[in-house]
Amino acid sequence: MPTATLLNARCSTCRKVFKNSKGLARHKQYIQRYNQRHQELDELPDNIIAEFKQILLAEIHKKLPLNFRSMGKKIVSIPCPESIFFSVFGGYIHYHSYSKGIYKCIFRGHETYQVLSTIFNSDQWGKKIYSQNQQTYVVCLDSPSQDTSVIEEIDPLEKLLQLSKKKTRQPRFLRGEILIEWKKKNIQRNQREYI
Ligand SMILES: [Zn+2]
Repeated sequence: MPTATLLNARCSTCRKVFKNSKGLARHKQYIQRYNQRHQELDELPDNIIAEFKQILLAEIHKKLPLNFRSMGKKIVSIPCPESIFFSVFGGYIHYHSYSKGIYKCIFRGHETYQVLSTIFNSDQWGKKIYSQNQQTYVVCLDSPSQDTSVIEEIDPLEKLLQLSKKKTRQPRFLRGEILIEWKKKNIQRNQREYI
């Protein structure tokens, strides 16, 4: 059984448990560092970032068809240069490995939808309205297990927005998780990175 001390030393975002509060403090320091822009990452004009967000939203909306059979976990993947990824998600990065070329953002809990609305500059990012007022929503569901292994199981080669969605007439945004991962893809003759 976890003791009260252990619970206090648990990261509220990724649920990782640390031996003591020092370990957790160090974890938070690392996260702060992950969100500092590297010199080689260009600062991009606002209109480029805004345009990319629109592309991202369009791709998410494509994953919200009006069909119960297609409910469930969703993966959205989009080619994306590192500088754009950082411009959109910088400040929300929770894991970064320079050598592996990976960034991860983890969003959990009832504020997830709102936080992503802020990032995307749109509270419509997870909604799609069909005729007869039928609507499809991204719903952040309770994950059965809150431990970090859930995150690690996801294929790191896949670049993704992982969405749980559910068709309903009323928006119901429950606790859940959305993982956004950027992974450098090595293609020798024409190197591209993907979100
Ligand atoms: Zn964490």
